[in-house]
Amino acid sequence: MNLSALYQIFLDCQLVTTDSRNCPEGSLFIALKGESFNGNAFAGKALETGCAYAIIDEPEYAVEGDQRYILVDNCLQTLQQLANYHRRQLGTRVIGITGTNGKTTTKELISAVLSQSHNILYTLGNLNNHIGVPSTLLRLKAEHDLAVIEMGANHPGEIKFLSEIAEPDCGIITNVGKAHLEGFGSFEGVIKTKGELYDFLRKKEGSTVFIHHDNAYLMNIAGGLNLIPYGTEDDLYVNGRITGNSPYLTFEWKAGKAGETYQVQTQLIGEYNFPNALAAITIGLFFGVEAAKINEALAGYTPQNNRSQLKKTNDNTLIIDAYNANPTSMMAALQNFRNMEVPHKMLLLGDMRELGAESAAEHQKIADYIKECDFEEVWLVGEQFAAAEHSFKTYPNVQEVIKELETNKPKGYTILIKGSNGIKLSSTVDHF
Ligand code: ATP
Ligand code: MG
Repeated sequence: MNLSALYQIFLDCQLVTTDSRNCPEGSLFIALKGESFNGNAFAGKALETGCAYAIIDEPEYAVEGDQRYILVDNCLQTLQQLANYHRRQLGTRVIGITGTNGKTTTKELISAVLSQSHNILYTLGNLNNHIGVPSTLLRLKAEHDLAVIEMGANHPGEIKFLSEIAEPDCGIITNVGKAHLEGFGSFEGVIKTKGELYDFLRKKEGSTVFIHHDNAYLMNIAGGLNLIPYGTEDDLYVNGRITGNSPYLTFEWKAGKAGETYQVQTQLIGEYNFPNALAAITIGLFFGVEAAKINEALAGYTPQNNRSQLKKTNDNTLIIDAYNANPTSMMAALQNFRNMEVPHKMLLLGDMRELGAESAAEHQKIADYIKECDFEEVWLVGEQFAAAEHSFKTYPNVQEVIKELETNKPKGYTILIKGSNGIKLSSTVDHF
């Protein structure tokens, strides 16, 4: 079946699902494969429980004579092609977001701001890969006037690939830093891969790039683009300065030199969210959202999913950032915590994963930085931190941390909890 015929089926169904446990009536099932599952095997169940059609790529899973099975060469490719076709048919303006850190937060802030006066579609949670991006695009409806799409990468070429699916009209790279070095090979590899978004936009007529003017790495690779900068210099389109950080980010901002000054107290932890917020303001103004409404959206946004959340237990105050960690975000979180004016600071840090050959050196750098600070308690979890040179307490895994908390719980501390998701530091939260 050719793409336009498949697209007709998609239009009839309106909704795509790749999860046979969630098959809304009349939806289109696409059978994806993972390391430990084969979606083809669930096509029958999907049809039984509500799907109108099932796209499969292994003929033996079709029932002979049942027209609801549609055989294609490769289901994943079909999902991606349908998404791009749909995006083109609707012609909605797409804002693409990538970067090493802050993609999801920036995406959420931009979406909160734009929602004040637009009907927008945006990536749910962190669905930013070769499946999440097309799945998000397939949720686009004619009534959406903008789409905000998060694009993640851990290998070269991935952002090019995702850009060719989403075909953004506007783009933003939040920052470039050290993460997934295993996949990228080097920091240069990271810059080049994130820069694939700029490469795409450079070729697209009428495109716009929002850029953090203070970021030299980004400014370096931004030649030939239509740039809208934001930053701290006051002749820029949007600029601002941090006015408070204990613990919530508070700042003031204005548009250009002459703009009216706005103050905002966010519900975000971390000075590193300042550029993320400036990006959202810039994009809001660009798309015609009133400044006062932008401010309301920033003040009202509460982060979800363990991204810099504040939690008070009976005994302690926790700053939970246990969802991901890499050298750049770890350093940003530590610097922010160091500057925070709160008494009795404690760290619970987990290993940063996927750093390949640079892992030992990067863990050592973090350990050395912590030595310079005067945190009252430091607990490190994981083999990489254990192998670094320092005299802090180490734990092989979170089970050991929880054991310690059961007998010897610290009390009266503000505790920064940060590590790669795989270390599972979030499971310690209820024990503090
Ligand atoms: P992922 O790669 O998991 O999708 P992400 O890029 O979407 O991550 P967020 O989830 O928004 O990033 O934030 C993750 C963490 O990155 C934050 O909790 C914080 O520690 C750090 N971070 C966020 N914004 C910045 C920034 N502008 N600069 C440096 N670090 C940041
Ligand atoms: Mg994300």
